[in-house]
Amino acid sequence: MSELVIKNLHVQIENKPILKGLNLTLPQGEVHAIMGPNGTGKSTLANTLMGHPSYQVTEGDILFDGKSLLNLSPAERSHLGIFLAFQYPVSIPGVTVANFLRTAVNAHRKAANPDDKGIPILEFRKIMKEKMEMLKVDSAFAGRYLNEGFSGGEKKRAEVLQMAMLQPSIAILDETDSGLDIDALRIVSEGVNTLRNKELGVLVITHYQRILNYIQPDIVHVMMDGRIVESGGPDLALDLEEHGYTWVREKLENGT
Ligand code: ADP
Ligand code: MG
Ligand code: MG
Repeated sequence: MSELVIKNLHVQIENKPILKGLNLTLPQGEVHAIMGPNGTGKSTLANTLMGHPSYQVTEGDILFDGKSLLNLSPAERSHLGIFLAFQYPVSIPGVTVANFLRTAVNAHRKAANPDDKGIPILEFRKIMKEKMEMLKVDSAFAGRYLNEGFSGGEKKRAEVLQMAMLQPSIAILDETDSGLDIDALRIVSEGVNTLRNKELGVLVITHYQRILNYIQPDIVHVMMDGRIVESGGPDLALDLEEHGYTWVREKLENGT
């Protein structure tokens, strides 16, 4: 059983503190949601977990299976089984979804075994077909150029498919604060629900309560001012939907 443990994490961007002592434990097999108002540091957390070089960790640690990730590159983190879906996936001209996925799968195989010669094409096609059927992705999708002219929903579909192919231990999904339509939300949710199993831990980071109408998280965390300030079961999301974040802020300010 692997777990991701974030301990007293302090992160700054250009000398401006953003994360201020964030603690969170995500075990394999659980789905956790992080919710919080805009500008509170949710994407900073996702970027820091990924190992983005602009985000400077000044204190605390990120452990996976008890081992610190802080000195590992984004690729090394990915090879360990941590999957990060990007808020704004880039488009790669001339690279199809299938080629992109095959490259990703081969990079993981190579990291696990330097002598690996890459997945045989027929085996790759077979696995990709199975995953696409499982996720109800149209077969033509594999031949599309990655992110070129993709709708928000199609970008999410590519991400979820990538997740299915790489079979990570921990997946971190950061949702955009704007422009994420209901279709994209549904695709991410159905994908996560389909892939959900005891070997996968998922962290869904979102500005919106409504994604939690589709994904039933085991734990909901509320993030404010660079910290997790409240954690609870799915009921917490309903409270937030009904009453917004004001009560959490008031509770914080009153020190209760
Ligand atoms: P959220 O995802 O919760 O909306 P962000 O992590 O995007 O919050 O942003 C948290 C704070 O960090 C904001 O004040 C934002 O302006 C600042 N910030 C985020 N990214 C950068 C960056 N690359 N450079 C400077 N400031 C940034
Ligand atoms: Mg934001
Ligand atoms: Mg964000």
